[in-house]
Amino acid sequence: MNDAPKLAKTPCAASDNDIEYSPPLMWRILRILAPLVFAICAISGIVSYHLYASTAVEHMHDDHREMMNIVALSMPDAIWNFDDERVHAYLETLSHHDSVHAVRYFNHEGKLVEEITKRGTAFEPLTHSQNLVYQNSLVKQSVGRLELESTNAPILTARYQGGAVLFVIALTIILLILLLLSWQLKRYVATPLSTAIDHMRQLEDQHAIFHRVPFAQSREINKVIVQLNKLGERLFNMMEALRQNEERYQHFYRDTPALLLVIDNKGNVQDASQLMLETIGSSREQLIGVPFHSIINSQNGNQIHRLSTALQLGSACDDQVMTLRCQHQDDRQVQVVIPAAKGTQTRGTMMLLTDITELTRTQQRLMEHELIDPLTQLPNRLSLNHHLKQLIASDDVFGLLLVNIDRFHSINHHLGPMDGDLLLKETGERLKECNPAWIGRTGGDEFVMTCDVKDLRPLVRRIQTAFSHPLLKSGESINLSLSMAGLEAQANDESPSRLMRLLELTVVDIKHEGGNQYRTCVRDSVLEDGEPLFLKERMIREALAMGWFRLYLQPIFRAASPDLEAPELLGAEALIRLEHPELGLVPPNEFIPAAEKTGQIIDIGNWVLEEAAVILSEWRRIGIEERYLSVNASVMQFRDQCMLHQLESLLERYPIRPSQLVIEVTENLMLDSKDSLLCQLHAIRKLGVNLSLDDFGTGFSCLSYLHDLPFGILKVDRSFVMNVETSHRDRELAQIIVAMARSFGMQVVVEGVEKRGQAEIFRDMGVHAFQGYLFGRPMPQQAFETRFHANADARVSLLKPVRSAPGTGNDLG
Ligand code: C2E
Ligand code: MG
Ligand code: MG
Repeated sequence: MNDAPKLAKTPCAASDNDIEYSPPLMWRILRILAPLVFAICAISGIVSYHLYASTAVEHMHDDHREMMNIVALSMPDAIWNFDDERVHAYLETLSHHDSVHAVRYFNHEGKLVEEITKRGTAFEPLTHSQNLVYQNSLVKQSVGRLELESTNAPILTARYQGGAVLFVIALTIILLILLLLSWQLKRYVATPLSTAIDHMRQLEDQHAIFHRVPFAQSREINKVIVQLNKLGERLFNMMEALRQNEERYQHFYRDTPALLLVIDNKGNVQDASQLMLETIGSSREQLIGVPFHSIINSQNGNQIHRLSTALQLGSACDDQVMTLRCQHQDDRQVQVVIPAAKGTQTRGTMMLLTDITELTRTQQRLMEHELIDPLTQLPNRLSLNHHLKQLIASDDVFGLLLVNIDRFHSINHHLGPMDGDLLLKETGERLKECNPAWIGRTGGDEFVMTCDVKDLRPLVRRIQTAFSHPLLKSGESINLSLSMAGLEAQANDESPSRLMRLLELTVVDIKHEGGNQYRTCVRDSVLEDGEPLFLKERMIREALAMGWFRLYLQPIFRAASPDLEAPELLGAEALIRLEHPELGLVPPNEFIPAAEKTGQIIDIGNWVLEEAAVILSEWRRIGIEERYLSVNASVMQFRDQCMLHQLESLLERYPIRPSQLVIEVTENLMLDSKDSLLCQLHAIRKLGVNLSLDDFGTGFSCLSYLHDLPFGILKVDRSFVMNVETSHRDRELAQIIVAMARSFGMQVVVEGVEKRGQAEIFRDMGVHAFQGYLFGRPMPQQAFETRFHANADARVSLLKPVRSAPGTGNDLG
């Protein structure tokens, strides 16, 4: 489509030199006409000579016969009278004629009497004879005979001369005509044509202005000149446009702030942009003509080959990353693109290079930063993910080991953050010395290792031996106990997150049992309730898809209400239920553990939070802004900052006050004492959302570090409540917990209150709120609204700042 117009090949194309040295037109005409004219003249001369000569000879013979007749009238008289002198005179007279060669007189007896013969021989002789008769009135007698021998020579000579003259005259006239013709040709054709050529030659000069060819005096030539002028003007305009384009091209191409190369079809550099020259530190003259690969680092052999092929085929070549050789600076990393060549490649192929040196460095830095744990310099969780994906993709079975330091949070608290960090570093080094195939730090005190499947047990033993010696920090020897979970990962059947979940759940189990153990993960075993996991997984999947989940609300009341019969409503806890069409209402304990194992807890948690936000928005719409809604969350929902992002999104999308929302997490979360988790909890508090530590007293929480955690509410587990009336120990324990929580500025909620006596004991301890069957069971939202709407007037402020914790804390009143 964009092909340049092609020159049509003429069969006898001549070069400019051939034309310069070829004979002029006039000479060509003369060369043809001259022999022709000469031949015509010669032939016509010869023909006219022949025609004329034969008639002249006949006329001569007639003349001879007539002369002889005349002489024959008077000569017999001289003979009769014997007048020899007169006879001789007659003969003389006859012989005077040029065409007469000889005259002879014979007497009546036939004897030659007198003969006059000229010298030489007669040419084509013809003899005329005449009888001589004397006659008078008396006598008539023959006196002899006269003979005349003629010759053609004089006549022919005269005719030859005449023919020659005629030929010369004809030749002269024709030559004159030819001269005239050539003069005319020169004047009317040759000169105007050469003028036209001179004018057209102006266009050869790049900067010339085209002057129109002046008209000549010939109509035909003028027609040619008109066309030439049109052509010349068009050419001139095209050249002008071309010049402007060239200037624009030079400006755009050479001064463009991009790295450009133009490569000819032999792979040599044809041109380069200014920036390109500056980058490689070379002048245009030096660069033009050199093979393009000479400016590319020779290590990029493959890419050079690919580019060369693309150049030869005129095909596109995308994103070849290679190194550009530079003379005055470090070599640059460039990304080379060759757009597909359209049409002819004679004008060269454009090569576009993008300097990605800085980008690559930044990417590398980012990558390193992203994949390496800055503290231990070991690969991090993201790196583990890549590594596991690779291992899973390969066909091998491999060993995977998760190592978690027991009670690291307390140790860290005890040592202080600086030494805590050093301890982690040293732990990493010691674990590395145990020669796993791969080791990474995937969280605060969590290390993951991979190894050959046969090396899993020996590796565990090596680690146990290595950590049987204490680590020294701040002059203190510290014995670390480790919780370790291992598994044999099978190729192609696991996702990294699922493998990690298995390990983490196993570590949680170990921690529940006091830690300092190694355990192999049991995959997809039956659950505690004996039902296979996959059945639960299917039910949860169905419930999510079919919308079988419901949120029940259990009221929470102010404990300080003097009248326990009509306590003041503070808020509610949202408790999930599964309304199965066949099984009826399924309680959370029957599917939450399974959901945690399968990872479906994330989807469930998201659904619960969305529902809670809808309820809070509805409360706000009807003017209830003080009630809070407490939502249970699982450890997994906090992975990868998920919870924080989800809450941010909720607060953006729903018109709710952050302080109306409370997130309940169990102490198990704290077993996962990762820095990122703590940061997340603080960030959630900063959003204004309150945090509640659920089921307190069942886990291994250390009361002393509660101080550092951003929880505003502490929920005393039901197990303390059950025996509080009868067991002195439980009452004392409960007393300590409540006192300590209060001293940290935390609000205490007692859950599972079923008896009035229990409520009274805790009220006297100074707890803030009650939740339990005594006050109300979990109920559908509708029932909750109907029952407590009337009580909405009894509002209490939940919004007072609780403590000096970060963010805008809330208070249970
Ligand atoms: P939880 O967060 O400690 O919730 C309190 C549980 O105690 C609820 O059981 C509640 O019905 C029950 N309860 C309240 N007062 C009394 C009482 O006076 N006596 C007795 N015997 N029980 C009482 P539920 O609803 O079966 O929930 C069990 C657990 O399931 C919850 O314990 C919570 O850990 C979990 N759960 C419930 N909903 C969700 C949820 O949406 N997400 C997550 N991750 N877990 C949830
Ligand atoms: Mg709860
Ligand atoms: Mg609880």
